[in-house]
Amino acid sequence: FEAKKRQNGSVFYSASLDAGSQESLSLLSELRHAVEAGELRLYLQPKVDLQSGRIISAEALVRWQHPERGLVPPMQFIPFAEQTGFIRALTAWVIEASAAAWAQARAQDLALRISVNLSTRDLLDQDLPAKIQAMLDAHGARSDALCLEITESAIMDDPQRALHTLQQLQERGFKMSIDDFGTGYSSLAYLKRLPVHELKIDKSFVMAMESDLGDAKIVRSTIELAHNLGLSVVAEGVESAKAWRLLAALGCDEGQGYFIAKPMPQEQFLDWLRAWRAPEIGSIGADTMLS
Ligand code: C2E
Ligand code: MG
Ligand code: MG
Ligand code: MG
Repeated sequence: FEAKKRQNGSVFYSASLDAGSQESLSLLSELRHAVEAGELRLYLQPKVDLQSGRIISAEALVRWQHPERGLVPPMQFIPFAEQTGFIRALTAWVIEASAAAWAQARAQDLALRISVNLSTRDLLDQDLPAKIQAMLDAHGARSDALCLEITESAIMDDPQRALHTLQQLQERGFKMSIDDFGTGYSSLAYLKRLPVHELKIDKSFVMAMESDLGDAKIVRSTIELAHNLGLSVVAEGVESAKAWRLLAALGCDEGQGYFIAKPMPQEQFLDWLRAWRAPEIGSIGADTMLS
């Protein structure tokens, strides 16, 4: 197995833990325990309408508040959860927590759509659409309160089955989004057929576009492609006012990134949302940067 030792001696886990090993079994039981003991934390990161500056949605990002290791980021346990199948329980936890967060916002007259990340294994779960529906119903949320983010690679793992699940999710009225667009290997033929309403440009392109003309052109073409397919576009990794300006000039619909806010614990989110005032970002001619 490949566990990385940190200076303080604590062990973090990489994606390639051998599924049958002792370490793997103990991490799995630790994860199970984490859910029961309430060690998972729902973090929310806002997405802003780049033209109006309004916040209409947020992405749910999970963290593990480990009693000894501190706050563990998702990349240190999500891949493992995917490998062992535990991801289904984890996804259920995130959806339940997101539905509760939605209801809490609703009770304060704040309208919010929450995006939840799904993984490959979730897409192979034929009961997923009904399970999600039941959790939303329990909180009095309509299906469009939720958006499901799916990466290209998760879909391309088993395109037929994924498409089937996506169609079922669509029939129930859930919004869907392609995450990390540009990093996977999805074909445009599939993109055209997917019942999604949104495309998220991967942060690697957005973060590089101010210094790299090639990345700026990829961002511009992706926005155009999405709009031509009738999809709304979100840019991830908006880290500066300049990036916001350029994206707005290119017609990008929404932005998400540290310039707006880092992901924050769910309990802080509503206060943050109430205090939010869109910054004066000015405007820029997209052609001045992209000629
Ligand atoms: P993702 O779905 O693409 O989420 C966006 C990631 O980019 C988040 O990292 C977020 O904190 C980070 N990010 C947002 N804005 C910026 C920015 O301006 N600059 C930079 N450098 N980073 C930014 P995070 O929270 O560490 O999550 C990493 C990945 O873990 C997610 O990528 C997603 O693939 C996965 N993940 C997180 N929560 C869940 C979950 O509940 N379920 C599943 N299946 N996967 C999850
Ligand atoms: Mg995502
Ligand atoms: Mg993403
Ligand atoms: Mg990502």
